[in-house]
Amino acid sequence: MTFTKTRLFLEQIAPLAGLGKAELAVLSTPQNVLKADLVISGKTYPAYRVQFNNARGPFKGGIRFHPEVDEDEVTSLAFWMTLKTAVADIPLGGGKGGVRINPKELTTAELEELSRAYVRAFYKELGPDKDIPAPDVYTTPQIMAWMLDEYEKLIGRKAPAFITGKPLEYGGSKVRDIATALGGMYILEEAVTKLRLPGKRVVIQGFGNAGMTAAKLVAEQGYKVVAVSDSKGGIYDPHGLDIDDVVKIKDATGSVVNHAAQKVSNSELLKLDCDILIPSALSGVITAENAVAVKAKIILELANGPTTPEADRILHEAGVLVLPDILANAGGVTVSYFEWVQNLQDESWTERVVKEKLKTKMITAFQQLWDLYSLNTYDFRTASYIHALRKIIEAERKRGRV
Ligand code: NAD
Repeated sequence: MTFTKTRLFLEQIAPLAGLGKAELAVLSTPQNVLKADLVISGKTYPAYRVQFNNARGPFKGGIRFHPEVDEDEVTSLAFWMTLKTAVADIPLGGGKGGVRINPKELTTAELEELSRAYVRAFYKELGPDKDIPAPDVYTTPQIMAWMLDEYEKLIGRKAPAFITGKPLEYGGSKVRDIATALGGMYILEEAVTKLRLPGKRVVIQGFGNAGMTAAKLVAEQGYKVVAVSDSKGGIYDPHGLDIDDVVKIKDATGSVVNHAAQKVSNSELLKLDCDILIPSALSGVITAENAVAVKAKIILELANGPTTPEADRILHEAGVLVLPDILANAGGVTVSYFEWVQNLQDESWTERVVKEKLKTKMITAFQQLWDLYSLNTYDFRTASYIHALRKIIEAERKRGRV
């Protein structure tokens, strides 16, 4: 979503969240927009770090390396991170970074140089108690490790809490690799209980980190995964797919479509007969055109922004519960926060401890939003936005900044 659209959205929702003019102005303006030109092998690439809001704690958000990155997109993403950390109730604000570049065209040495150059450009404005980056599109634990190494060289001391999403051997947290899907599953279980949903047939779009992990986790939990897809297409079995088999085929051949099950296109997949739909790939896939045909009773948005605002209205009127991205996929940033806490305290928590803490955070966030949602006529997404905006503005008021 462009930042102009994000601003419009904020204006519409402001009265519901009790925001006055001055408060709206604060929440629709990033605190800092940092820019630099990075030179890699003689070519120049624009780089950004947008620090949107730190009323509730240091800025927090990923860095993406992608050919479509621009200031507008990074600003919008930084705004959504601010809402996400508020919904998850972790003491952090929101930020985002990016470089406009196609990392697939770089050699490993150039990718390392790009990562280090990014840190050299912005390091004075980053840090464990200022702004904590993380991975995003096309940035990996290895890239986080190079960035941390560069930062520590520049400041001349150890600072593992500078960045999250690191490899386990270099201060990363257990469970981070599955955190987004696991957090989503905890939310799903709560929603299924609240709605007393009788069926547990699941359709998942996207079979990468979020979608594949979600498929494994819900199958282990006794749900029946009837369809999954990736960029090449989907597969469907009304009796339920064997997820271990699908994973093996995806690993061996590069796509789920090589599985023997019936083929479906990505657009047919969204309309399949099921109880739960988990979009885990792209944004803007559930639209005004296909929303009427969605059969699921619950949509768990593991992808960022998979549902358009028009589709949202149609689904709400049809009684479909859409669990919005800022809650549904907040497990990732929550375990990033746990990583930061472990690094600051020089601790390493066990898998069991991280999972328990994540479950508590996700269930508490869900319950708070459910309470607001069930008392009002608006949809679950609107309830989530209102809740987040109120928390951020309350922190702004307490600080005396508004
Ligand atoms: P990924 O790259 O690991 O996987 C993406 C999957 O989507 C792949 O299976 C790919 O084949 C599939 N895909 C691509 N184009 C498609 C299309 N046209 N139709 C159907 N499938 C298609 O990415 P990921 O980390 O799993 O992220 C997926 C979504 O979840 C993104 O929206 C991302 O922003 C969001 N998300 C991920 C995390 C995380 O921790 N991984 C956290 C928050 C949000």
